Amino acid sequence: MPFDVVIRGGRVLDGAGSPWRIADIGIRNGRIAKVGRVGRAKSANSVDASGKYVAPGFIDIHTHSDIGILVEPTAECAVRQGVTMHVIGNCGDSPAPISDPYRELAVRRFEYYVQARDWNWSTYGEYLDFMAAQGVGINIAGLVGHGSVRLATMGFEERPPTRDERRQMKAHVDEAMRAGAFGMSTGLVYPPGCFDDCRSRPRMHRNRRARRLCRPDQPQQSEVRGHREREGGSSPLGSREGSRRRRPRG
Ligand SMILES: [Zn+2]
Repeated sequence: MPFDVVIRGGRVLDGAGSPWRIADIGIRNGRIAKVGRVGRAKSANSVDASGKYVAPGFIDIHTHSDIGILVEPTAECAVRQGVTMHVIGNCGDSPAPISDPYRELAVRRFEYYVQARDWNWSTYGEYLDFMAAQGVGINIAGLVGHGSVRLATMGFEERPPTRDERRQMKAHVDEAMRAGAFGMSTGLVYPPGCFDDCRSRPRMHRNRRARRLCRPDQPQQSEVRGHREREGGSSPLGSREGSRRRRPRG
């Protein structure tokens, strides 16, 4: 059976850690049907990749293209670098949820996009639906931001949430997870995430508090940086926290 596309003679890196090897790749119905010697098999399109590397799409695990992907759904800036998946919503910052009392605060950063006039989502699910309706040129894994959840609940109040506010925050996170969020992110050096607990308490403690918004089976990305790290030095706290990302069970 002929292939739709054959990529010929490239140095193929299969993504499993194996060294490269020269091979052809036959693609049929949008899927890799063969890796090896395709020979002169018929194909509608043939790409000569000799002297070039051929690899699976790269995953960019830390982007802030939450809004950019709406403005440029084809995501050519990613695709042309070989990136086929973005993790968005990092650093505690996602474009949803947005609550009516704090809508103006939440959308101020979008205003320089003319398209923002048509953006009126509130829940995380509505944001994802909006993105899906526009179409997306790459795969997206969205994190719901702890800072955005806080903003939707209590604006930029410089204090920890009350018990009732924390309940509302949990409900926002739960809605996002059910709607398709991949996990939750925190950015505890950035406002408003940095106000999550008394500043006299250790950062680790604050992060534990933020984590409790997630269920144990929900992944969490933590963005915890010390000032030294921001300035180019290292932060033992940052690396320790970074490694504590939760993984889904099963
Ligand atoms: Zn970031």
